[in-house]
Amino acid sequence: MSVEYKPEAEVVQLCQELIRIDTSNFGSDSGPGERLAAERVAGLLDEVGIASELLEAAPGRTSVVAHWEPEGVDASISPLLVHGHLDVVPANADDWSVPPFSGEVVDGCIWGRGAVDMKDFDAMVLSVIRARARAGAAPRRPIRLIFTADEEAGARLGARWLVEKHREVVEGCQEAIGEVGGFSLTVRDDLRLYPIQTAEKGMAWLNLIAEGRAGHGSLRHDQNAITALSAAVARVGSYQWPRKITDPQRAFLEAVAEAFEVDLDPDQLEETLAHLGSIARLIGATMSNTANPTMLTAGYKHNVIPGNAAAAIDGRFLPGSEDEFYATIADLIGDQVRYEVVAHNPSVETQFAGALVEAMQACLEAEDPGAQTVPYLFSGGTDGKAWHSVGIRCFGFAPLRLPPDLDFVGMFHGVDERVPTDSLEFGARVLDRFLDRA
Ligand SMILES: [Zn+2]
Repeated sequence: MSVEYKPEAEVVQLCQELIRIDTSNFGSDSGPGERLAAERVAGLLDEVGIASELLEAAPGRTSVVAHWEPEGVDASISPLLVHGHLDVVPANADDWSVPPFSGEVVDGCIWGRGAVDMKDFDAMVLSVIRARARAGAAPRRPIRLIFTADEEAGARLGARWLVEKHREVVEGCQEAIGEVGGFSLTVRDDLRLYPIQTAEKGMAWLNLIAEGRAGHGSLRHDQNAITALSAAVARVGSYQWPRKITDPQRAFLEAVAEAFEVDLDPDQLEETLAHLGSIARLIGATMSNTANPTMLTAGYKHNVIPGNAAAAIDGRFLPGSEDEFYATIADLIGDQVRYEVVAHNPSVETQFAGALVEAMQACLEAEDPGAQTVPYLFSGGTDGKAWHSVGIRCFGFAPLRLPPDLDFVGMFHGVDERVPTDSLEFGARVLDRFLDRA
């Protein structure tokens, strides 16, 4: 027997509480925050009778895993993975209008590091599940909950470690929801686009290495490693990668063009998009591969020609463009320079189709009649890459109806991160409906 419940009842308070636990991820020497947050999440689940497990790749780098399969759930359907990370990027308090770990509510918004990325969604999930568990309202299918550590530093001690060492935590899961997507971009009073992330660019961190002949700086010299390296770096850095429109990108652009009643001429995309505010930010780096030189290392004395020189390149490639990316780099750097791959993450992509996608549209529309979902390609990386590597379809779906003038996209990792409290409550209601249909 289920009773009436309010899925959004605790969402504001829980979001504030999570922000107040400073889970700054500084890389390998992070503080106790992730464990404290994980223990709190486990406690919140335990209060409503949901058992969970804390798993640590390293001391303090704690993730939480729970299986929620209450009475009434259809256990014959594969579990839906609902995931969020608990860590945040560090915040420099001097830059902020409020202390970044205060979780204060000012002008109708919760302010603080993580309000946008992504303690907002963590709080929604907890509020909805606690309300439903108390009321005996089972979801349609089993829910696998994972709150991870270390997303912000590449997930080596979080999601990636979980799929490598504890594959059983996602056993049976075929579909997942998490960041980054599901927030509204206002077109008109009666139309809001809700971009759902269906793809992520891949990452290729490269070292360019030039080897020449060491020698005296006063002599003629035709095998100077610095000269060869700098020419290669200049070619890579100034290369104009050809624009490529991937499938999710095309669908997104078509929806934008139709919604705004503009013509999106592929040759003038940048100009047109510039008029569309935060939509341009979202698309910015997803039209082509990119390869930016970021570090240089060479030499030790003014009059010594060094034997070698190296440069770091941060490369990102579109789904389906990996081979072309590496081939182009090889072409650009020429014969005197070689590259080594320092870190590589594949691009990921899933189709914007199927029952889960229909459920997203229906649940958003039930709370916002002007809602229209559209797929999009994300230029960064998320925990989704780890889940995708074990065959799970990942969607960025953390629903929020936002006021038209809030630059939400610009607040990821930015200063004065904040989320309107009524947007959070909206998200909790959408997520609650979603658990009935997904
Ligand atoms: Zn995030």
